[in-house]
Order: sequence, then structure tokens, then C-alpha cells
Amino acid sequence: MKKLFILPLILLIAGCSNKESDSEVDIIDKDKTYNWRLVTSWPKNYPGLGMAPERIADLVEEMSDGQMKITVYGAGEQVPAFGVFDAVSSGSHQMGHSGGYFWKGKVPAAQFFTSVPFGLTADEINAWVYKGGGLELWREVYEPFNIYPIPAGNTGTQMFGWFNKEINSLDDIKGLKMRIPGIGGEVLKEAGGIPVTLPGGELYTALQTGVIDATEWVGPYNDLTFGFHQAAKYYYYPGWHEPGPMLELIINIDAWNSLPKHLQVIIETAAKAVNQEMLDEYLAMNNQALIELVEVHGVELRKLPDDVIEEFREISNKILEDLAKEDETIAKVYESYTDFKNNVSAYHEISEDAFIESRNK
Ligand code: CA
Repeated sequence: MKKLFILPLILLIAGCSNKESDSEVDIIDKDKTYNWRLVTSWPKNYPGLGMAPERIADLVEEMSDGQMKITVYGAGEQVPAFGVFDAVSSGSHQMGHSGGYFWKGKVPAAQFFTSVPFGLTADEINAWVYKGGGLELWREVYEPFNIYPIPAGNTGTQMFGWFNKEINSLDDIKGLKMRIPGIGGEVLKEAGGIPVTLPGGELYTALQTGVIDATEWVGPYNDLTFGFHQAAKYYYYPGWHEPGPMLELIINIDAWNSLPKHLQVIIETAAKAVNQEMLDEYLAMNNQALIELVEVHGVELRKLPDDVIEEFREISNKILEDLAKEDETIAKVYESYTDFKNNVSAYHEISEDAFIESRNK
């Protein structure tokens, strides 16, 4: 609709100035250079998570032949780790790189676009977002905040995390103060634990000084770099709370609309490349890091008992159902996500799941 109104106006202006101009493209200076600032929730140059925005910045500069330069700031350099959404929403910074579930207080539906307990794996969330209607919903959910989201990285299935005591039943969760973001934290709370949200850079000290009893972070590759093995003994899996968290490149909509089309395409393409590249990096590095944790540092690897996982799953499903009742937007996202999950897992049962089971026997 907007275009229909704008076009005659442009023609009118073009007519008045005798300029042969008949499209919106002429309004934007195609050769103008752009220097943008990108804030993140990760320590500067942090492996995996923190390198994703650096890689996007490098690719954008190369592909645009220097027309666009993006300077990446680590958590706390310009805004706090959890101030990224507000900075981009207000336009104080054009871009941010983070995880949607950190904004659950103001955008509860955002959690579905990162990860929800017992939800989609990395491959599955890519398929939902790119080909199953997820991205359109995501943009609709962020639009009132003047933010345009683009998928930009995935860690793959995470670990449940670091503990100083064994978890043999749900009783062992009671009173446990654990860093765990998103809906996973609400599940822990329902099970009697005390969830805490802290940025990654503060976790080691919090765990070592006893401010928290346990923490999840990502997986062996990242956890080894933070040295959690020096502060906790047991390393638990599986990461039921974050089966395949998708990270986000968020852009202020006014800033986005000020870009010529070719720079928008370059940014979307760079983010898509990094979305895959990051997942590949984690897959390539995780097992090597796990071997080092266990064999060199003596970490005790433990699987959560099946009945504990089942209880977490039941609590999760109930919390997600209740969340969907809060408002129409969440209900719409929940329905799309859940339908996609049910369909894709039915197919995965006879394809990937069946194959992996037969291969590993
Ligand atoms: Ca995590």
C-alpha cells in the first residue's frame, strides 16, 4: 500500500525537477559509505558466540567492497550484555548480536526463536525459521520494538551443565541455585530450584565463589575456555533446556530501511553463511574439548537419570502450554512451532533417529 502512495509522489517530484527518476532506489545514494556499530551479549572475540558477529562484519565489508564497515563491541564495552535489545530498539546502535530468550521479560514469544526446552534441534529450527514460516512470525513479533531480526548462529545441542553434587532425583534440584536462562529456568524453578540469569562473562566467578551452585553455559568447546572444570566436578547431559539455540542479528528498522537493497542482501547473506558456519565450528570442536575435560582435567561426565528427564519434560510442556494462553501472539508462535516440531519429529523418527540408532549399535 505504502509503495502505491509513494510512487506517484516520486514521479511528481521527479517531474518537477526534470530528473529521469522513476523508482525508490534513486532516493538512496548507492555509493554512500556506512559505518555501523554492533553491540553483543558476549565477551569480545569469544570463541563461537563472539566470533559470529565478527565474521558477519568481515564478510559484509568484503562483499560490499568496503562500502559498509561494522564495528563489533563486546558485552559491557558500550552497553551491558543484556542491554543489546534496548540499544537496537532505541537506535543508539544500529545492530546487535544476542539470543532472543534474554528478552523474555518484555518479549516472551522471543524464546521460541532461540530455544525452548525439549524443542527443535539446530537443523529443525533452521527449517522452521527459513522454510516453515518461523522467520515471518519472528519479524512480526519484533516489529513493535522497531527491530528486524535475522538468524545468525547456532551452538547445536548444549550440555545441561556443571554441578558440584550428583543429580539422582528431582529432590537434588530443590534449593539449587543455577544459572539457566529462558524457559529452562522456569522449569528449574517449578522443580524447586532457583534459576539465575547472568551473562557468560560473570559465570566462572559466580560458580567459584558460591554465588551460584551450578551453571549451564554452552557445551565443551565454550565451557573449557571459561574453566568451569576448576569450579565444579560433574558435567551433566543432555541439554534438554537448549536443544539447538538460534542466535540473532538484530537491526534497528529505521537504520535497515536507510540501506540500499544490495547492502541488505549482503547482510542477510553474510548472516546466513555464519548461521551455518558457527554450527559447523561447534560440531568440529566439541568432542575434542570434551576429551580434554574428561581425560586431562578429570571431569566426571554424567547423564541425567531418565525419570528426571521425564519430569523435566512434563513440567516443560505444561509451562509452554500455559505460556501460549497468555496472549494471541505467543499462542500463534507456539502453534506454528509445535506443529512444525510434531511433523518434523515424526519424519526424523524414521530417518535420522532410525539411522543414528542403527549406525551406533
Ligand atoms: Ca546455554
